[in-house]
Amino acid sequence: MRRSPQRHPVRRRWPGWWRLLALTCLLASLIFCGVPIAQAPLVPPAPLDAATPTVAPLLTVRPTLEAAPTATPDPAAPRRVGLQAGHWRSEEHPDEQASLRRFSGAYYRGYDEWELNIIIARETMERLADAGVVVDLLPATVPPGYLADAFVSIHVDGATGAQAATRRGWKLATPFRASAASDALAEAISAAYAQVTGLPEDPLGPSYDMRAYYAFAYYRYQHSIAPETPAVILEAGFMTHPEDRELLFGRPDLIAEGIAQGVLRYLAAYDPTDAAVRAPVGRTLLRPARDGAPLHARPDEQSAVERTLARDERLAPMAETSGWVLVFTHGGNWDLGWVRTEDIEETGEALAPPVASVHAP
Ligand SMILES: [Zn+2]
Repeated sequence: MRRSPQRHPVRRRWPGWWRLLALTCLLASLIFCGVPIAQAPLVPPAPLDAATPTVAPLLTVRPTLEAAPTATPDPAAPRRVGLQAGHWRSEEHPDEQASLRRFSGAYYRGYDEWELNIIIARETMERLADAGVVVDLLPATVPPGYLADAFVSIHVDGATGAQAATRRGWKLATPFRASAASDALAEAISAAYAQVTGLPEDPLGPSYDMRAYYAFAYYRYQHSIAPETPAVILEAGFMTHPEDRELLFGRPDLIAEGIAQGVLRYLAAYDPTDAAVRAPVGRTLLRPARDGAPLHARPDEQSAVERTLARDERLAPMAETSGWVLVFTHGGNWDLGWVRTEDIEETGEALAPPVASVHAP
């Protein structure tokens, strides 16, 4: 409908050149403050698009603990928990973990996994600190022999290709040789995380890679947790799946709440004076009982022989089932495989990083 000039007397008093100048200034100010002109009209905010990440990395965050040995925790002191933001500052890995420097983890549309991990870890830290827990916010590099009442490594997963549309859910793993305290920590976080976030569990479950996570590998690296530190690694969900991403990117506070509630439930039932509950389970360092003992792919005589073992090798035992032991060859290529119990013998030597150089040729 055309409007009569009489109902807008002001407009008639503004010369054409003045209105043009005012419009130019308005456009210029919108451009310089970075607001796209197309969004200048007031519109209701769009609902969260699960395809669009809404987080930004916290580049000012620093680890709260530098890579130095930690003291034995005092049972009378507040509980101490290490929260590791997976892959954070991975370029700082020490020489013994030089190959890990380039592992930046999962990614999605320009976002690296650590950018999400650090947000979740920070939110979890705030919740634990509010409950009186002393928290070490740890980067990818773990202080040598890190000792605490719990260590939680926070990661998110990613899938590529056709799997990106279907793989989803969280999973949790304890180290190999898990102590009773590690099992209790895993149980508490699993229950709370599922309950608080409503996310499904990844039906494929944790991998051996998770259980052999480098930060757990006190038998391989100096920069790792102490064997007595109860520990888990969490893959909080898939950043490549739209429904997981809606929560990971849109509600990191809920993700953190699930982790924090789990840790607090675990701590409520934890007795720091009970050393037995923190002791890892398993044999000491092993050696083959004979030259040429086979290292099998599975605990099954019919499974592939990965290689044969030399009598003077050392084997780090990870897990055991009837008649078979899962071992890492200690040093060199760190082959993982199964040996029959009659093919091994105990050395009585403690599980520790090899004395020789850990740098395989
Ligand atoms: Zn990761």
